[in-house]
Amino acid sequence: MSSRKVGIVGSGLIGRAWAMLFAAAGYRVQLYDILESQLSTALQELDKDLHSLEEKGSLRGQLRAAEQFALIEVTTKLEELTREALYIQECVPEVLQLKRSLYTQLDELLGEDTVVGSSTSTFMPSLYSEGLKRRQQMLVAHPLNPPYFIPLVEIVPAPWTSPQAVERTHSLMLSVGQRPVTLRREIQGFATNRIQYAILNEVWRLVASGILSVADVDRVLSQGLGLRYALLGSLETAHLNAPGGVADYFQRFGGEISAVSATYGATPDTQGDKVTLEDIARQCEELVPLEALEARRATRDEFLTKLAKLKKQF
Ligand code: NAD
Repeated sequence: MSSRKVGIVGSGLIGRAWAMLFAAAGYRVQLYDILESQLSTALQELDKDLHSLEEKGSLRGQLRAAEQFALIEVTTKLEELTREALYIQECVPEVLQLKRSLYTQLDELLGEDTVVGSSTSTFMPSLYSEGLKRRQQMLVAHPLNPPYFIPLVEIVPAPWTSPQAVERTHSLMLSVGQRPVTLRREIQGFATNRIQYAILNEVWRLVASGILSVADVDRVLSQGLGLRYALLGSLETAHLNAPGGVADYFQRFGGEISAVSATYGATPDTQGDKVTLEDIARQCEELVPLEALEARRATRDEFLTKLAKLKKQF
């Protein structure tokens, strides 16, 4: 793998973020999209975003914004993208048929050393790579939005993904400053969404049963648990919360955890329960009106930058 070229398929929100991450680490980046107009917009946005990060002192890597931007080029030809690419990050919309047809095209063009990671949040890699000749080079590399500020990447192999493809992706992610975790086998929801959905289900139940308002249930995380979890995982949190560590924690509190867990009830029907959904939407929109979402996202990203810097000292 002597090439320093990384290809990105899809130049939307996530594709652009990956382009910035790879360019920050000095990789040559080629962005591919089916829409030429989307590629010109992507280049304009990347130029603007890189310079704005530089002005704020939040640009990643050792290179200046202009040098990073110079590493990014675009193409509308898939065969050009795959040529000499050491890695390809796929970022097309979350539509299984679209992904399948793209991977079928890629299958004909990939060199034997190129690994393809999908940004998909929901599709297990076996769903789009089954039956392809290069399927051992395909896996999921799932980022969290915004990837520039949140370092986690979930690497998820299909049953046929080669250990070398997993290892290379892991090393590549470390080389761009991300913090990968590798699942030993694919599972629906990967790890992040399984945990996230467990939280969402309980938050929904607490609001639906009238025990807490939306603002208060969110405060439980933003002013409570989330502060710890910004630094430590839930198991290390438990480890620190009992005199004898985690074994002592579960010895002391395991009975209570089981008793409370037995009262959770059925998984909420978040699509069918329109009454709760309307109530949650109304309360959320009182807190952040729809027209203020963009500004709120920008504030979130600004503070995530500061938090990321602080976390490096922890
Ligand atoms: P997006 O809609 O912003 O961008 C998709 C891009 O793909 C567009 O530029 C579109 O023109 C292009 N495209 C469509 N069909 C194509 C094709 N056949 N070949 C090449 N390009 C094509 O989408 P996004 O939010 O960037 O999401 C991309 C992927 O990242 C999805 O799989 C999504 O699940 C995943 N993801 C998204 C988020 C998020 O918060 N948005 C977070 C993590 C992962």
